[in-house]
Amino acid sequence: MTDTSSPAADQEQRARHTAARFREVYGTEPTGVWAAPGRVNLIGEHTDYNDGFVMPLALPHTTLAAAAPRTDGVLRVHSGDSGGDGQIAELRLDALRPASDGGWAGYPAGIAWALREAGLPVGGADLHYDSTVPVGAGLSSSAALEVVTALALDDLYGLGLTRQRLARLAQRAENAFVGVPCGIMDQTAAACCTEGHALFLDTRDLSQRQVPFDLAGEGLRLLVVDTRVKHELGDGAYAQRRAMCERGARALGVRALREVRYAHLPEALDRLAAQGDARGDGPGDTPGAGGPGVRAVVRHVVTENRRVEDVIARLDAGETRAIGPLLTAGHASLRDDFQVSCAELDLAVETACAAGALGARMTGGGFGGSAVVLAEEAGADTVAARVTEAFAAAGHTAPRIFPAVPSAGARRLV
Ligand code: ADP
Ligand code: MG
Repeated sequence: MTDTSSPAADQEQRARHTAARFREVYGTEPTGVWAAPGRVNLIGEHTDYNDGFVMPLALPHTTLAAAAPRTDGVLRVHSGDSGGDGQIAELRLDALRPASDGGWAGYPAGIAWALREAGLPVGGADLHYDSTVPVGAGLSSSAALEVVTALALDDLYGLGLTRQRLARLAQRAENAFVGVPCGIMDQTAAACCTEGHALFLDTRDLSQRQVPFDLAGEGLRLLVVDTRVKHELGDGAYAQRRAMCERGARALGVRALREVRYAHLPEALDRLAAQGDARGDGPGDTPGAGGPGVRAVVRHVVTENRRVEDVIARLDAGETRAIGPLLTAGHASLRDDFQVSCAELDLAVETACAAGALGARMTGGGFGGSAVVLAEEAGADTVAARVTEAFAAAGHTAPRIFPAVPSAGARRLV
């Protein structure tokens, strides 16, 4: 069923609670409390490492950090959430090394490391976290954790970082310190999104635009369906898809697939078909890895970038309902061409559409995680109920379904 409790409404109370927990954990007063949100990507999937377009929005779900500076060069972190282990992790700033700590503390430690690597005057700090962002659901709890840490340190040490710079440093922390090869979308969403908007981001030049996305005003609801599964396949498949995209770009003589315009797609596909070594659509062309061939991944990336542009055009024209079919077409492309969906995601999308949703797609990397569903406000509960029933009938774990209200990016609360 739809969880209609609003995580935003009780933000103030949560800030007080987080500050109180900080006092219990560290026995001192926090200087302030900061928040950064989780996100869903509305459209633009697997385009970020092709220099393409993405369009995330911030969720009302946030990670809060209460923090105070320290003068002894020590970073202490504590989390009240399932992502953490309940212990205080204590790290010396001058001893931080990439991948020196495999646990959750690597995310905040990576932020301190990345800021110092950039030559910024960051000292020690005590941090306590409290989060409502589902962990590991493809809603980017990791970027929320990184960005709230970066914002707290930015404020505590008067660094004056722009939101874009903060996002890039957070990405560097995740890439180089934690060791996860993520793109720039998640951190940018957590840092830069604004209430009532989706964020259009061009991952080549990092230019961005806030696109009005007034769901409530239009009588619409965007649902997130967290399938609560994560299939093992994920990591290897991500590397394989990335490699195929690079092969496609090389074969077409472009730096990244973003340069292939939609109007030139048929021609590009013909060219790939004519190049035996880059055709890649037969099983023999991707030894050992399986997955889609070069032509299929090129088709996905080029059409997906086009769908992002189409969604923006529809939203700018005030035709919010018209984005529904574009979302569903995006799902088909991820399922059939890019081959990163799974039974649970397909079931969520098919059931939602059959139950009257305007459109639906998997969101995030795939092989589990979450789907987004655009529905009429009046029919949204029915859509959610049908999806829950279908999961039960198929013997899947019950999904977690909640509304994605386009919310604010990172900010100081207290
Ligand atoms: P996602 O970003 O999709 O939620 P990731 O695997 O990228 O999933 O990041 C999840 C990891 O981030 C967790 O395993 C944990 O290490 C860390 N994490 C996220 N939020 C918190 C939190 N509130 N407290 C402690 N660790 C967290
Ligand atoms: Mg993550």
